[in-house]
Amino acid sequence: MNAKADATPALDLARIRADFPLLARQVHGKPLVYLDNANTSQKPRQVIEAVDRHYREHNANVARAVHQLGEEATGAYEGARDALARFINAPSRNEVVLTSGTTQATNLVAYSYALPRLQPGDAILTTVMEHHANIVPWQLVAARSGATVKAAPIDGRGELIVEKFVELLTPEVKLACVGHVSNVLGTVNPVRELARECRKRGIPLLVDGSQAVPHRPVDVQALGCDFYALTGHKMLAPTGTGALWAKKEHLDAMPPFFGGGEMIREVRFGGTTFADPPHKFEAGTPNIAGFAGVAAALDYYASLGFDAIRAHERALLDHATARLREVPGLRIIGEAAEKEPVISFLLEGAQATDLATLLDLEGVAVRSGHHCAHPLMQFFGVPATLRASLAFYNTHEEVDAFVAALLKVRKLLM
Ligand code: PLP
Repeated sequence: MNAKADATPALDLARIRADFPLLARQVHGKPLVYLDNANTSQKPRQVIEAVDRHYREHNANVARAVHQLGEEATGAYEGARDALARFINAPSRNEVVLTSGTTQATNLVAYSYALPRLQPGDAILTTVMEHHANIVPWQLVAARSGATVKAAPIDGRGELIVEKFVELLTPEVKLACVGHVSNVLGTVNPVRELARECRKRGIPLLVDGSQAVPHRPVDVQALGCDFYALTGHKMLAPTGTGALWAKKEHLDAMPPFFGGGEMIREVRFGGTTFADPPHKFEAGTPNIAGFAGVAAALDYYASLGFDAIRAHERALLDHATARLREVPGLRIIGEAAEKEPVISFLLEGAQATDLATLLDLEGVAVRSGHHCAHPLMQFFGVPATLRASLAFYNTHEEVDAFVAALLKVRKLLM
């Protein structure tokens, strides 16, 4: 579908790209073509300026000082919580725990929700296509409790085999964990359907939304999951920001994971009482400036609108897929019916890392490697793939420049 073929307003790419200072730079004397957005996105000046403004004008610690700056810093930090709650349609801002990213969010659920509940013989269900942040925390708490981690299989197109996932939702499963969108394949998982099946069996579902939130509107209430983890730096915000949304009943029942300042009601050697969620889970000084940037990032998405973003990204994905199919010996890994703009591929006779290094010399930034998804690489029987991941600020011309560079470096390696 082309953005211009329907009533969706087209993105003003020249204006948008002017907002991203880094997109104007050259790499090895070539214009940068940044196609590593699933790794981390670039940041618009609105986000950079929000962080800069915070340090220049508002810097203080949160929730401690009654002075003006302290109030402003607290306002910025808590304002980001409000913005995130709206962004994912959380029923309450108090259900949004601010974290350093998805990794902290999944570990919080592992240690604070899962570990106290797991008994020997219990299981956590995840899938073969997950990022390590949605596998290793479960393994760590399984090892401590005598539980196991099961992985639902996928098919050769890179789609979750939903019937198998449902079959694996046996009574020993105390938590199911699935990525909303695969960081390697771009596959969009049918989270609503999975949540429905989990609910029928009384099994809570955690969704790793890291790769979904940059591309599509997310409504945690409509999805029907129990936990939703996200990271800020893949959606225009600074590194070291993220969130865990969880249903109130879960947060109320979870003990704190980190202890320290900010998360207590009263500390006594005879026994400490804790603040209510979400503060109970936010010990220590957070990344306040980073969250000022999160609010600016979410404003930026709102200014464009996901309809326009999605139309453009869909057109880019279709264009990139078609162009890559023209490259002799190229095999796309991950051909799910519903994908976000992430394309993993292999080129016959060439190592992924060699290709990525040569593409870099042409100014093209793509990622090579296992993408923190070893089990998925094992499933496809490859040590690594190349991955081009697109964002709304990428253009058709950049896709063409990338394919031209690929054809050029391919010749060098053949
Ligand atoms: N989950 C997925 C699907 C990801 O792509 C990533 C980042 O690559 C993560 C989790 C981890 O995110 P972070 O390192 O920001 O915590």
